Amino acid sequence: MDPKALQKIGCGVYLVCARKGDRFNGQIANTVFQVAAEPPTIAVSINKKNLTHEYIHDTKLFTVSILSKETPLPFIGQFGFKSGREAEKFSGVSYRLSQSGVPIVTDHTLAYMEAKVIQEVDVGTHTVFVATVTDAGMLVETEPMTYSFYHEIKRGTTPRTAPSFIEEKRPAPAVTEAKKEAVPPMTKYICKVCGYIYDPAQGDPDSGVKPGTPFESLPDDWMCPVCGAAKDQFEKVKE
Ligand code: FE
Repeated sequence: MDPKALQKIGCGVYLVCARKGDRFNGQIANTVFQVAAEPPTIAVSINKKNLTHEYIHDTKLFTVSILSKETPLPFIGQFGFKSGREAEKFSGVSYRLSQSGVPIVTDHTLAYMEAKVIQEVDVGTHTVFVATVTDAGMLVETEPMTYSFYHEIKRGTTPRTAPSFIEEKRPAPAVTEAKKEAVPPMTKYICKVCGYIYDPAQGDPDSGVKPGTPFESLPDDWMCPVCGAAKDQFEKVKE
């Protein structure tokens, strides 16, 4: 079986939020999809280890923010790689409350919905929550982020708790002989926390780091754009 075939399934990048008492939590999900039209019904797959899972299971409510193509990596990292048990994910983030009081994140969001769970399907590591949409709205007319765009263009990574996580070694890009001579070798570094690879040739434009900046020249307070890990959490990529 070639697991790469499964990566060809079209997925988006969504922010799923839930509330328990006066506590909010949110996480990135790539598996939100509409499963019926009348009444409008959606499904989302959430890892049982995630705090959001506990909140949705207990309250039967969640919201979904559909993220725009321009969403910066650090924003996705804030919700995708940090556990709500450790991080205050909503600090500095704009949100409003749904009719049921669940946070709807509005930053980088083009459309949102609120849903009430009608069924839970146990799929081992994850639960698929099937839910009726109780409210929905458009915020901005722009293109949604797709999972392949996130991976290929934004060079984002997949947390181990995502349903689509596949353990893989990234192949080193082919370097032509001519390029080798013209460009001094610049070593790539990988984040030991999330697997993001800093490529000096591309820099980190979301954080204002220009292409061509060696890892060694990054400021000491530079952080992994995906998960926020410190610079000392990176190691050289062996090529
Ligand atoms: Fe990282």
